[in-house]
Formats: sequence, C-alpha cells, structure tokens
Amino acid sequence: MSADWEMVIGLEVHCELATATKLFCGCRNSFGDEPNVNVCPVCLGLPGSLPVLNEQAVELAMRIGDALHCEIRPSEFARKNYFYPDQAKDYQISQYDLPLNTGGWLELPDEFRVGVTRAHMEEDTGKLTHVGASGRINAALHALVDYNRSGVPLVEIVSEPDIRTVAHARSYASELRGILKATGASDGRMEEGSMRVDANVSVRPAGTTAFGTRCEIKNLNSLRSLGRAIEYEAARQIAVLESGGSVDQETRHWDESAGRTESMRSKEEANDYRYFPEPDLVPLAPDAAWQERVRAGMGPMPSDRRAQLAAALGGSPTDAELDQIRAVVDLGLDGLVTAAAEAGSPASLALARAANEVAAQSEAGLSLNATKFVALLAMESGGQLSATQAKAVLAALLERGGGDPAAVAKEMGFEALGADTLSAVVDEVIASHPDEWERFVGGEDKLMGMFTGEVMKATSGKANGKEVAAELRRRRG
Ligand code: ADP
Ligand code: MG
Ligand code: ZN
Repeated sequence: MSADWEMVIGLEVHCELATATKLFCGCRNSFGDEPNVNVCPVCLGLPGSLPVLNEQAVELAMRIGDALHCEIRPSEFARKNYFYPDQAKDYQISQYDLPLNTGGWLELPDEFRVGVTRAHMEEDTGKLTHVGASGRINAALHALVDYNRSGVPLVEIVSEPDIRTVAHARSYASELRGILKATGASDGRMEEGSMRVDANVSVRPAGTTAFGTRCEIKNLNSLRSLGRAIEYEAARQIAVLESGGSVDQETRHWDESAGRTESMRSKEEANDYRYFPEPDLVPLAPDAAWQERVRAGMGPMPSDRRAQLAAALGGSPTDAELDQIRAVVDLGLDGLVTAAAEAGSPASLALARAANEVAAQSEAGLSLNATKFVALLAMESGGQLSATQAKAVLAALLERGGGDPAAVAKEMGFEALGADTLSAVVDEVIASHPDEWERFVGGEDKLMGMFTGEVMKATSGKANGKEVAAELRRRRG
C-alpha cells in the first residue's frame, strides 16, 4: 500500500460455543449431522415455545470475557427483528445495549494491544444452501434450509478500530482463535464456520486522525481470505478517493475465486432491527462467586504458554525459536515440548522437532506420546541417529500412531555404525582420494563436504554426519 494512506480496521468475530446443547433448548449442538435432525419447537420458533438459557453457554461466554480482560456485567437479552428464511422466528435473540462482557483488550504476540469493545451472547441462524444453475445466491434454482445450526450459542467479539495493518488483523484473528481454544469455549475451526470474521475497513491520508467511511466485509472463513479481502478493499477505497470520489458505507461480500469484494447492501438499505428486551428471558447477572468459579476453572492462555516455553529454552529465544514457539502453542503441541524438556531432552531440539515434523502431521490429526518423543530425542542428541534419520523415524512414528523409536530406527536401517566400521570406511575414502586429502590437510576446508558425502555414500547414509566430521578432523590433525 502507498505510504500516503493508512488503513483502519475493526474486526467482528462470531464464534460458536462448544456446548453439548443449543442456547435455548435441549437440541444437540453438533456440526456435520444430517440436515434438520437436531430441531425442536424452540429452535424452529413454533408458536408458544419458550426459551430456557443454557448455563454452560453462559460459563463459556464468561471465560471468553475473562480471557479478553473484559468487565463481566449484568446483561440482558434482546430481540433483533428481521425476516430471513434461515431464522424461523423472524427475530434473533441477541444482546444489544447491555452485553455480558465489555471493555477488554487482546495483546498480540508482538505486544500490540487491540481494544475489545464487547463480547456478547446470541443465537446462530440456520444454514441456507443455494443449489442449481450457478449456485450463486441470485442465480440459484433452489434454496435448501438446515435448522440444525438454528439456536446454536454464539459469542460475538467486537474489536475497537485499533488495527492498522493486514499483518495485525491476521495476528489478531489467529491469537483470538488460540484464546478461544485455550478457554475451551470453541474449537475455532474457521473452515467449519465455528469462527467467522467480518472485517470493517476504512482508509485515511497518512498522518491524519479522523476516521474515513468504512465498509464491512462479511464472513471471511480463513486467515488468508481475511488478509486478501482487507488488502483488496483498502486498495479499492484508495482508488475511489484518489479519483475524487467518496466511499459509501456498505456491507460487502468477499468473492474468494474472483479475489474481490462486491457490494451486498448499502447503509440506506440497512435494516431497522427494532430491538426490544426479550420478554421470555430474565436479565442475566452472574454473581461474583460464579465468576470466580469460572475463572478458577480456566487453564493458561496462549501468551502464558509461550512464556513457559521461552523459559524452558533458557529465557531468550532467537527469532526462529519464537516462530517455532508460536506454531507449537497454536497447534497445542507445547505440552509435548515441556514434557520432553522436563524429562531431560534438549529443549531447543524438542521445540524444533515439534514445530516442524510433529506439526506437519498434527494437521492431519496425528499425535505422538511424550515418552516416545523423549526416547527419540535421546537417540538423536546421543548421536545414535543423525538429524535426517531422526526426522524420518519421527515421521514413521507419527504415521503409525506409535511404536518403539529404537525398533523403528533399526527397521529403517538406521542402526548406528560401529566406531570401527566408520573408521575403516574413512580409511578407504581417504585412500581413494589422495590428492583431495592432501589439499584438505593443507587447509582447503571446503573439501570437508566432499569427504563427508563420500563416507555417507559408502555407508548408505547410515553414518552420523557429526561423527564423520569429527573423525575427518581428527585424521587431519
Ligand atoms: P455496527 O453496529 O454497524 O456493526 P459498530 O460501531 O458496532 O457498528 O462497529 C463495528 C465495527 O466497526 C467495530 O469493530 C469497529 O471497531 C469498526 N469500526 C468502526 N468505525 C470504523 C472505521 N471508521 N474504520 C474501520 N473500522 C471501524
Ligand atoms: Mg456490525
Ligand atoms: Zn431445539
């Protein structure tokens, strides 16, 4: 982006709470079931049905509030009235002027703080699927509706317009996802819609303080889309302003395949939701004792866990290690690293293997038990396995879902080469390259690579690179 302009970004994040049942009825809250099996008169909005508030949902919402340093306050539910076929009642029960959590903040890994305006409770709508023709909303032949999601508990987290860069917007969404997972409030799966991000974007001339007119981009379902959509939208607004036009406040849709935002509705068409207090629910005012119980039941947040890993590494991690720490905590692999470090494995080695090899497989849901991990790291740090070999054994352990590292290493042909064998091979290699050896002895260090490579070839990769180098240096004298 040109240095003449600055972006202003505020994010609204909806997250589905990981409760057993829905917000106001006993229907199962579960993703991916056959359509319209988890429904009842309450979540279908049939006349005469009455909502009953889910206690577990309130606790999870309080955990989110607490993790975001919000004040948890007496609150009220309100009816937000609008017609849409995915919402059979014709209104959504939400919180309006009296939300449960207000005035908090979220600190990014680089210590930049983003204000959190509010985090309130509401119910999700059903899900519409447009089919036939192109499948696009305006050109579909049929609209199918699934009410399984209708009434699923949501918390909407609204940020202050504090963010100024795409990198911080992505970092905020990623850190928030980590916090939602750490509180147990949500699984944070963007691709399944359990975390959905709307981005409010405006631009202003660099160095000015007044906010420009914003547009809201709806339902971004990956960090990548979030970044691309903001980038596109800011450039679009700058082009409008630079050509003498003005930005209209509107809601826009992100078209992932076309890579652009498109107008959905302007402010003039905005609904008047006619909010009023929900008459079927009493005000929600969690007392201090309940708040304290909820707080006491919470584990450490991602920032605490990163600090813990940094401490296990001796306190001043390198930039590369900081990246690894972030990745490991994001994936929930930090327990594996701390367990390995406590069992005596070198912490930086445990971190590197977890952030790379284990992380690559954990995306596919594969995991490793700490004892096997410790045993493997001991073989690597003790010199029985080279780094390359250890990585291969680790991948095999993950793929098989277990096994004994020593046995797997043997099976893969990674048996440590006896010192005698190594010494004999080195003799042979030196004997068959007399000229190079003379130059190496004479100080031509770059030949180290060539000799190591020859020894590796002669041992079919079984020799340990470090030991080979040590042996060659010893011979050189
Ligand atoms: P609404 O009720 O229309 O959604 P809010 O005042 O609640 O409006 O703001 C919604 C979001 O827009 C918040 O995340 C806020 O930080 C953000 N926001 C407000 N003004 C701006 C602006 N000028 N530029 C970018 N984001 C903004
Ligand atoms: Mg909004
Ligand atoms: Zn129901």
